Amino acid sequence: MRIPIIAGNWKMNKTTAEAVTFVQSLKKELGQLSDRLCVICPPFTALLSVAQELKGSGIEWGAQNLFWETEGAFTGEISSRMLKEIGASYCILGHCERRKILKETDEMVHRKVKKALAEGLSPIVCVGERLEEREKGITFDVIKSQVTQDLEGLKKEEVLRCVLAYEPVWAIGTGRNATPLQAQEVHAFIRKLLGEQFGEEAASKVRIQYGGSVKPDNIDELMAEDDVDGALVGGASLDIKSFARIVNFKV
Ligand code: PEP
Repeated sequence: MRIPIIAGNWKMNKTTAEAVTFVQSLKKELGQLSDRLCVICPPFTALLSVAQELKGSGIEWGAQNLFWETEGAFTGEISSRMLKEIGASYCILGHCERRKILKETDEMVHRKVKKALAEGLSPIVCVGERLEEREKGITFDVIKSQVTQDLEGLKKEEVLRCVLAYEPVWAIGTGRNATPLQAQEVHAFIRKLLGEQFGEEAASKVRIQYGGSVKPDNIDELMAEDDVDGALVGGASLDIKSFARIVNFKV
């Protein structure tokens, strides 16, 4: 059985004080979760304070990026070792905003995935097609290429520690979400790919989140799909009531 995982990607939002206030409320809203997992990914500056606030709550947390080297002259970068030292469990990698704005390639994402895994972090690996790619009918080719390159050469045990996030670029921050059927179609395709590349166990156990304008009013129908194992939530994760409702999706 795959335990659903709902993650909040706060992007470049919330000061440390705002982040702490948010997670204090979140703990009250969620109580102890038993059949699902909630992960918060705040900006780097708020990680330590959020971590302290979340101790014992069952809510997990992670970062939004890391660099593939361990240490050295890489101005502005943060290493997996630094994240591990402060207790991070997850790290979002390959988000489409980084691919687009910062020109991250699949080769770079792959190096980051390897490094995260080597340090004991679980990467949340984001893949997804752009609107023009969907319109050209090449969604599956794009997804195959990203999944294959981002996870290239991983051992089955490593893949089992990854979470994949299908995030159609046209649905990110646009208010236009994929329909449950569109999401299911791609999730099933990713699961098939995982099976071909890493075997049946990986196919059946790796969780695949959907991301792209997830809100309280569409989460239930998305989670009803067989291969949707959770959500990566941007905008709606910044609002306590919306995010709590999303985490408390109804099955
Ligand atoms: C995201 O950035 O990962 C995301 C899914 O954003 P939004 O929910 O705002 O579309």
